Amino acid sequence: MEDRKHQICRRCIMDTTDPDIIFDKEGICNHCTEALVRMGDQLLLRGQRRFALEKLIEKMKSQSKGKPYDCIIGVSGGVDSTSVAFYVKQLGLRALAVHFDNGWDSELAVDNIKKTLESLKIELLTHVVDWEEFKDLQLCFLKASVANCEIPTDHAINALLFHTAYKHKTRYILSGSNIVTEAIMPLSWGHYNQDLRHLLALHRRFGHVPLRTMPRISLAQYCYYVFIKKMRQVPLLNYFVYNKDELKKLLTEEIGWRDYGGKHYESVWTRFFQGYYLPTKFGFDKRKAHLSALICSAQMTREQALQEIKKPIYDPVLLKQDMLFVLKKFNLTQEEFNAILKAPLKQARDYPSNYLLFENLKKYRNIFRKIATSP
Ligand SMILES: [Zn+2]
Repeated sequence: MEDRKHQICRRCIMDTTDPDIIFDKEGICNHCTEALVRMGDQLLLRGQRRFALEKLIEKMKSQSKGKPYDCIIGVSGGVDSTSVAFYVKQLGLRALAVHFDNGWDSELAVDNIKKTLESLKIELLTHVVDWEEFKDLQLCFLKASVANCEIPTDHAINALLFHTAYKHKTRYILSGSNIVTEAIMPLSWGHYNQDLRHLLALHRRFGHVPLRTMPRISLAQYCYYVFIKKMRQVPLLNYFVYNKDELKKLLTEEIGWRDYGGKHYESVWTRFFQGYYLPTKFGFDKRKAHLSALICSAQMTREQALQEIKKPIYDPVLLKQDMLFVLKKFNLTQEEFNAILKAPLKQARDYPSNYLLFENLKKYRNIFRKIATSP
């Protein structure tokens, strides 16, 4: 990455640690500008939400007559997916919950999933990926020295949800993704997790264990599900007033859910990856994107976000403990891991990928998103 004078946006807290960030002459960045447009575009007005939600439920119920489920939901134990489970029950929908067990769930996450689904009486299907296979695949991404090491998990979850919905003849997947807190994430900090070509290319180059139990979905298969089978992935939380702190309180009181103390910290790997690996190797701190999204949705002021980002990203005692855990799980020595940390940085597009295809499809993204997410 070339040297560039450090600059931070004057509206959010995104900065030049995203090498592709663009500032206008007022010092406002492209991320918050685009996020505000998307929020305006995707968020229903408060007065319209109830009506839209009623229509969604009506449609789902009429489509699933004679079928065992109205919808499929993914559960990770995190606040967003737990909220979806909670609302689904409140709305009287028959859901099948799906969990992708990649071997990294924290004990608290396992406990939260169990407690949530038991108290809400929602059936759970857990897909346990073969650990040797998944470990090998994750190591491919570490050895490739790319920043997008969460692709194996994110890709598998998405694939699993679609395949499960298809198998159970359900058109609807209700997702916990939401524009309010996830509107910002620079592409340079990750890569398209739908990119199966990239995943398979890294596996061919660095992998040793055949992929047998890892759920996968190609772009063609995804298009088949969306355009031919008319399957929809509806971001349910966009239909509600989303306030993270209030949601956490509600879930704690209603179903005994317990907080993790960090976004996506329900997985030890994700905690380590976002809290140590990405900042140390690449200088990326994903908290900046999360906090900036909260600024855009008026849940936090810029000053509060700046205070928050000053807090240490990892508790040193927890880091030490997680480091040992991660090394042991990957069968890596500290020296081997240090070599990975020091290896020259690569981008996804340094390897075979569908980067150009996805970039070219970008102009249709809004149309595609509308089709794929609206009931
Ligand atoms: Zn900004």
